[in-house]
Amino acid sequence: MGTIVTQTLYVRGGSGTVYENGESEAATDAESIFIMQLLEELEGRELSWRAEGSEVAEINAGAGGEVHVVPSSSLREILGQIWQISADSDGALDVTLGRLSRLWNMDELAAEGGQMSVPSIEQVRSALEDTGYERARFSGDALILPAGMQLDLGAVGKGIACDRVSAYLHSQPQITGAVVAVGGSVVTYGQKPDGSPWKVAIIHPREEGSYLGVLSLTGEQYVSTSGDYERYVTVDGVRYHHILDPATGYPARSGLCSVTIVCDGGLTADALSTACFVLGPERGIALAENYGAEALLVSEDGALHMTEGMKKIFSVGE
Ligand code: AMP
Ligand code: MG
Repeated sequence: MGTIVTQTLYVRGGSGTVYENGESEAATDAESIFIMQLLEELEGRELSWRAEGSEVAEINAGAGGEVHVVPSSSLREILGQIWQISADSDGALDVTLGRLSRLWNMDELAAEGGQMSVPSIEQVRSALEDTGYERARFSGDALILPAGMQLDLGAVGKGIACDRVSAYLHSQPQITGAVVAVGGSVVTYGQKPDGSPWKVAIIHPREEGSYLGVLSLTGEQYVSTSGDYERYVTVDGVRYHHILDPATGYPARSGLCSVTIVCDGGLTADALSTACFVLGPERGIALAENYGAEALLVSEDGALHMTEGMKKIFSVGE
């Protein structure tokens, strides 16, 4: 997924650091290796638009004409959840913008620290014409996409990965606690041996290398952050980042530079962090509340906007 995975697992009878109560940390044990394989399979078989042979790549390969496919049941479920959030966010989340995200090509540009020529208005308009989640249709088990439409599940992939990790953790009774981060998406599970809350630090969107604050979480929670500092290129003083506004085809200018969501599902957290970023502070908070999610939105001027529940779990600094 082009990102860094970090995992800490507490396992009964593990071979790593052993705690007083008999639980232990298993840094390189079978469980953590299995999780990496699980994530590679998720990407390679289902979600990646780069990995040849993945379901999404095959759907996109057919985009020369109208696409008529029956996705696997797991992909159908994923798409169903995504389409619901697209509708609830007035299209702020739209995974049919593949042609646009490829036009901006921010992933590769930012990784290379690259030179970018800003796409022309005509190019953006043309790519925009091939987008629009409401133009895709579900008919029974089939998904029908108009010619030219390309899927990009980048906004939800890391959150879905957290959901898969959680399902695995639940199936392993020897695992008593875990915190797994897939890029900007994190899942916490169970308990730490000392019973203290999980601490998840939120990156400061404007001060490289420092943190804005820390979340204190108990049990199973999903955290996702979307920020304009993750992948961006600056041209003539303008920051072009990787979160696009499906209404304009340009990087979202909602006045926000970072959004963190905490809720009870990985896909939901990841989808909402992207959607809220596009919607801006007021509409973003309303969308999060609608989903019973907690949200922390950071404005470009540094102001913090939080749901009531977020104020209880987030502490500035530390
Ligand atoms: P995230 O970092 O989770 O906010 O996801 C950003 C990634 O999702 C980008 O790199 C694009 O591939 C894709 N993307 C950008 N804007 C949107 C959007 N408004 N809706 C859906 N996907 C998007
Ligand atoms: Mg996201």
